Amino acid sequence: MQSAQTGNDVRVERLIEWLRDAHAMEAQAETMLNKQAARIENYPELKARIEQHIVETQNQARLIESCLQRYDKSYSGIKDLGGKMMAMGQAMGGMMVSDEIVKGAQMGYVFENLEIASYTILIAAAEALGDTQTQQICERILQEEIAMAEWMRQHLPQITQAYLTRAVTPDVEAKR
Ligand code: MG
Ligand code: FE
Repeated sequence: MQSAQTGNDVRVERLIEWLRDAHAMEAQAETMLNKQAARIENYPELKARIEQHIVETQNQARLIESCLQRYDKSYSGIKDLGGKMMAMGQAMGGMMVSDEIVKGAQMGYVFENLEIASYTILIAAAEALGDTQTQQICERILQEEIAMAEWMRQHLPQITQAYLTRAVTPDVEAKR
């Protein structure tokens, strides 16, 4: 069997590729969450939880960068920024709907679960390669994504009902 550290090991290539995907995903998450938090006016609990997760997300991006830099010292995340544009488009699309707050929370829950799947894959790959640093970092990030997904799932009913209550109240804005 080949050494895990040789440059032409396809498993290392995949791990690096998946780390880059994760980095792009976090950049996209940051853009999306910033946009959401900035627009929320009437749902302070959701806004506060999103703001907490923005700080976590920025730190996650730095942690993934550190994993990539251990394989490639010259790594810079510049090439991973395509997702930022996509995220901007998604966030703007959400503004057009009158149930923006509900759709945003729904999308947020879906996105956290995408992140959970991505880090579960990265943990397995890092473990297979004996890269314990990457494995531990991804395990730590995974816990934050699980906590955020769980918070969203638990609060979706409350957000939905608060939205509906506001929607039927005259002169009260419900959408954000
Ligand atoms: Mg994340
Ligand atoms: Fe997340």
